[in-house]
Amino acid sequence: MTELRGVGIGLGVAHGPIARMAAPLPAPEDSPSTATPEEETARVRDAIAAVARDLETRGETAGGAAQEVLEAQAMMAEDPALEEEVAARLAAGKTAEFAVFDAFASFRDTLSAMGGYLGERAADLDDVAQRVIAHLRGLPAPGVPDPGHPFVLVAKDLAPADTALLDLDKVLALVTTEGGPTSHTAILAREKSIVAIVGVHGAGDLADGETVIVDAAQGTVVTSPSETDIAQVERRKADRAAAAAAPITPGALSDGTPVPLLVNLGKPDGAAAAVELGAEGVGLFRTEFLFLSSAQAPGVEEQTKAYTELLQAFEGKKVVVRALDAGADKPLAFLNDAHEENPALGLRGLRALRASEDILREQLTALANADAATNADLWVMAPMVSTVEETEYFVAIAKEHGIKTAGVMVEVPSLALLADKVLAVADFASIGTNDLTQYTLAADRLLGSVASFQDPWHPAVLQLVKATGDGGRVHGKPVGICGEAAADPLLAVVLVGLGATTLSMAPTALADVRATLLTHSLDDARRIASAALAASDAASARSAAHEAASLPKEIHS
Ligand code: PEP
Ligand code: MG
Repeated sequence: MTELRGVGIGLGVAHGPIARMAAPLPAPEDSPSTATPEEETARVRDAIAAVARDLETRGETAGGAAQEVLEAQAMMAEDPALEEEVAARLAAGKTAEFAVFDAFASFRDTLSAMGGYLGERAADLDDVAQRVIAHLRGLPAPGVPDPGHPFVLVAKDLAPADTALLDLDKVLALVTTEGGPTSHTAILAREKSIVAIVGVHGAGDLADGETVIVDAAQGTVVTSPSETDIAQVERRKADRAAAAAAPITPGALSDGTPVPLLVNLGKPDGAAAAVELGAEGVGLFRTEFLFLSSAQAPGVEEQTKAYTELLQAFEGKKVVVRALDAGADKPLAFLNDAHEENPALGLRGLRALRASEDILREQLTALANADAATNADLWVMAPMVSTVEETEYFVAIAKEHGIKTAGVMVEVPSLALLADKVLAVADFASIGTNDLTQYTLAADRLLGSVASFQDPWHPAVLQLVKATGDGGRVHGKPVGICGEAAADPLLAVVLVGLGATTLSMAPTALADVRATLLTHSLDDARRIASAALAASDAASARSAAHEAASLPKEIHS
């Protein structure tokens, strides 16, 4: 049995035989065209138009986020700048196939070099190029295999066009060797609740037909599983199905201790679905997601409209909005214009906002306007805060703009270590375990090669959560969790045991977490948390917690 690691998307688990995505089309040769540039231009135009229309049709069939992604990809195909690049190569006597291949590849390199969200769009451009070249050669578009039975799909990365129309009766799980948690494969897998792990180095060596267990909750692909392992997978699937079917009640432990279950959102239009799944409010609204493709800072009016729409959907409930978290994996053109060697350690989050204070003031104004126009309980917090002085700065400027409840995200170890002083100033803290883990273990959260370090079960991370929880208790201030860790049901119990007062997660995780919380009392949670804290690495913390919670040992432990 071997275990490969990557970034798990969601909490699902599945097992089955592997079918691999076909290798990409070979690169066209750079030999002179025998047709005229005009003839080649007409062929390219027809091919690009056909591919763009095919992507749009796939989008209409799929609907939802997939439709947006595929429409964006169709626009990419017909981008005038790209057309000019192709035309220049055709004018130089290249074949239609080579001109498309070469022009798209140079665009791809530019996008990749930008890194972050835009860098992850590079794979989408590769897919468009492959489709256009296949069309020019009269070949079917490259795509998902059909071995005639349900399978675990292994691919380098999946094109949105393939992910959007996956036959979910056949595809048991997705494993990609590339791509990070913000790749389109990840976004669409999350939306459709497909069991998926991205960035699994080494998955390319798995053989067709080999049986594997894909455990998204742990981010592991296990080869040659035993019968006992498979029986455990079946049990977990049954438990998840039971949790999904259970009545929706407010989040609480078995002794009645309330643990409000909130959701992480990036757009107001996800609100209705979240409420239906039992969201008791919003624990993290990622405002920067609204403006990832904006060249200019959004105005007060545009922002007021978006925030009002969000707050209206959660009337009477708590909504925690985060000020723009620009930089690193989420660069915003209007806040991050300088090149940095290490953007995760650079002018990111509150640091970038403070350097462009007008933008922060406009956002706070828009939030206060939306608050005045609605009846939700608005809380506002700053991202990537690393000092008590920054906490004082943010709380003061937020209050100056009429924000009633102002807090900070705990994502940098320094802030957790000084939680007592931080929470003397801030109204609340919210722990972002994704970045807290990245900064504690010094491991880039988007880099597959260091994904094994990005594990919030690490006792060093748990100690920082405890330090923050203790700070909250001293001052009677709430400490929420809004990183992905809150979506891992047993880790959620541990986090509550360490002092978290609310948990915020992707809406699809609510049912599992709700069901697991109901099986432990606060005393249990504290005991399980102590067992995890006493471990010396993430794997033993997980095993110790499982043992303390009297759960069967995990497949990989
Ligand atoms: C986090 O860092 O855990 C967090 C919730 O913020 P984001 O994932 O948006 O950086
Ligand atoms: Mg963060």
